[in-house]
Amino acid sequence: MNDEGYLRPVVLHKLQRSENARIEALCPGARVEHGPNAVPRDPLWGPLVRSRTGAATDGAVRRQGSSGGVISALAIFLLESKKVDFVAQIAASTSDPLANELQLSYSAEDVLRAAGSRYGPSAPLRQMRELLGSGKRFAFVGKPCDVAALRRYMQTDPAISQQIPYLLSFICAGVPSLEGTHKVIEKLGADRTQLASFRYRGDGWPGMARAVQQDGQVFEMDYSTSWGTILNRHLQFRCKICPDGTGEFADVTCADAWYGKDGYPDFAERDGRSMVLSRSEAGEALVREAVAAGAITVEDLGVGEIAKMQPYQAERKKMVLGRVMATRLALGFAPRYRRLGLWRSSLMVSPLAWLKNAGGTYRRIHRSLKTT
Ligand SMILES: Cc1cc2nc3c(=O)[nH]c(=O)nc-3n(C[C@H](O)[C@H](O)[C@H](O)COP(=O)(O)OP(=O)(O)OC[C@H]3O[C@@H](n4cnc5c(N)ncnc54)[C@H](O)[C@@H]3O)c2cc1C
Repeated sequence: MNDEGYLRPVVLHKLQRSENARIEALCPGARVEHGPNAVPRDPLWGPLVRSRTGAATDGAVRRQGSSGGVISALAIFLLESKKVDFVAQIAASTSDPLANELQLSYSAEDVLRAAGSRYGPSAPLRQMRELLGSGKRFAFVGKPCDVAALRRYMQTDPAISQQIPYLLSFICAGVPSLEGTHKVIEKLGADRTQLASFRYRGDGWPGMARAVQQDGQVFEMDYSTSWGTILNRHLQFRCKICPDGTGEFADVTCADAWYGKDGYPDFAERDGRSMVLSRSEAGEALVREAVAAGAITVEDLGVGEIAKMQPYQAERKKMVLGRVMATRLALGFAPRYRRLGLWRSSLMVSPLAWLKNAGGTYRRIHRSLKTT
């Protein structure tokens, strides 16, 4: 964890040229690209076999989940149908309520403990070598960037694909720093050194951020305030030039299927509803089997409806090519993106708006270079 509250890799020894080449080939910070044979891709929403809304059938899973609890319901279904031995996913650390750590879930109870979004840094791939060394079959849940990295790694060795038959992800606006979480707790008026537990949302949709102190005092804040006025101001720069906020490399991606008016989501409390995007044939088969087994309920969702529920994601995909070009111009380097539909998505906005947005990125980078 660096001073700004972001997780960063630490180089332990001088890297060989071959190690550097491997990192550059696999790390989504350096490169994000689809293979030439991915399923048909929508320029805004990536590979789509089918788009739906849905929710966990079990009321407790639906309530504890971030949106409709579909990721958790799929994870429980995978465990109970013995398609995997465990699910590798992020949960609150058992020793520090503000930290995120990898949890290996073997039961519905474990999965429920991990349900809900944790809007802070996470590194679920950190123990991947050990997990692969276990020889067990498992499903993986991670941010779009975690899943993109793992998908590329799997392409280097087919045995890994067999060991990890399902990659699940969620739509992601970006990772806020731990500093963002500290600011939420400060605004709540809680003492962050005395916390018994902390969650960002869940127990309803969208649910409240909730800090419980060891002395039993409870502090709560609604989602519009926690995400909309604090956490979204602490996103790391890489997330602002991310071409894959929607988990294009997963088998199934879930998101908030917000209700709204005039193209803007409203965050009134309701029964949870997820957006469920099947991105591969394996993902589509999983969704169908989970429906047949009664684990989730779903309804079809037209592709044109997605932008109304996720306007921020649509906007970023249209602007990201300009932003990454501006980054390269300002810094001399930037991640490489290929076959992500970025030229097509750029044509969906006016050239003036696109140029202004790219110019804003360029100016912000220059300003921050001057102050560091
Ligand atoms: C940083 C972040 C940004 C997000 N941005 C958006 C957005 O812009 N739009 C949107 O619709 N949804 C966003 N989400 C996702 C959304 O909040 C829900 O996770 C999604 O709707 C799935 O809901 P669910 O009820 O199916 O998931 P649940 O059943 O609650 O399962 C959530 C799963 O996510 C995993 N998880 C939680 N936090 C992390 C983390 N930090 N790193 C890795 N894995 C984690 C948990 O282990 C769990 O398996 C974001 C989530 C995160 C963590």
